[in-house]
Amino acid sequence: MPDTWLDIAPDARFGPSCLPYGVFSTPDRSERRVGVAIGGHVLDLGAAARALGAPFAGAVSGASLDPLLAAGRPVWEQVRAAVQEWLADPAREGDIRPHLADRAGVMLHLPFTVGDYVDFYSSEHHASNVGRIFRPEQEPLTPNWKHLPIGYHGRAGTVVPSGTPVVRPVGQRKRPSDAAPLFGPSARLDIEAEVGFVVGAPSAQGERVPVASFADHVFGAFLVNDWSARDLQAWEYVPLGPFLGKSFATSVSPWVVPLQALQAARTAPPARDPEPLEYLRDAEGDPWGLDISLEVRLNGHLLSRPPFSGMYWTPAQQLAHMTVNGASLRTGDFYASGTVSGPGREQCGSLLELSWGGKEPVRLPDGTERTFLEDGDTVAITATAPGPDGAVIDFGEVSGTVVPARG
Ligand code: MN
Repeated sequence: MPDTWLDIAPDARFGPSCLPYGVFSTPDRSERRVGVAIGGHVLDLGAAARALGAPFAGAVSGASLDPLLAAGRPVWEQVRAAVQEWLADPAREGDIRPHLADRAGVMLHLPFTVGDYVDFYSSEHHASNVGRIFRPEQEPLTPNWKHLPIGYHGRAGTVVPSGTPVVRPVGQRKRPSDAAPLFGPSARLDIEAEVGFVVGAPSAQGERVPVASFADHVFGAFLVNDWSARDLQAWEYVPLGPFLGKSFATSVSPWVVPLQALQAARTAPPARDPEPLEYLRDAEGDPWGLDISLEVRLNGHLLSRPPFSGMYWTPAQQLAHMTVNGASLRTGDFYASGTVSGPGREQCGSLLELSWGGKEPVRLPDGTERTFLEDGDTVAITATAPGPDGAVIDFGEVSGTVVPARG
């Protein structure tokens, strides 16, 4: 673990191996600034870089991560190395300390301007569970599932930072037993615990981005709650996929963990059978499975622990697939993994699975039961991953509270 002169408790979140990036403001200064989380502090990265005359100061002095994302991998590496050096060298304390804020007192904002947003469906356990629940008379996995990472384009404009209330969506729903569609607030509001990836370096239209170029284009990872109205979704999704059942809100965690912090978390993905087509094969000796352990809490009660390490398709394969037709990447494009679910019921990343389609309610410690979310419910997703030398990489949290539908 890199040393630091800073006072950081050994069990504190965001140790020196993590150094995630976000955008913050303070009660006395509403201007948004790029920050790096370190223990209980936030380093004002732009102010520190300017004070120390760092060559990358321009890329970290704006009101979002956008210029840093666009600057590309050599600059990402330069910035991280500099911050690690500043925090390790006691001679820098006098220069750095004035630019630290108390993390408990800052407001955190959407860290980057969201370009296009794609959501995948890459957990075999989740896809199989959903297949069994929604289409019990058919094979759980569709015939294409093991040949390509299935995804859909979501709504970028409704991506919101953690803490933003989520208004219960209204729309059409129709169960097979209903003679006609009903209209009103969703009665089956759900969550999806996912991991998101943000593109930094763009690509040209007509060009493919191979799996081996993942780390040249993707800057980092964060947590996602893909709120889902199951009743709206079930009625609308045939044949073109999710639409209004998903587009009302997608929450993201405020701290973006750079891929560089996830080197020790890299792991071999599950064996793929059948072998994917050439363009989807893992780069030789360089697969991008990630050992990230998620936790999902409802009103503080631990509901499940979804393991990201079992995801069938990696984020590198998702990126290669997303661009194989020549679709270009823009800085700020964001794609999510799909609901993370493991083989066990207590490892499922959605209430749809945890309550098995609403048939088996989840019991909470206060004696109440849930199949889907009620107004006032707060869902929080957290995650950790192994860091270097036994350190823990912390993703922080994405949370949101459901508020009643608007009349
Ligand atoms: Mn999803």
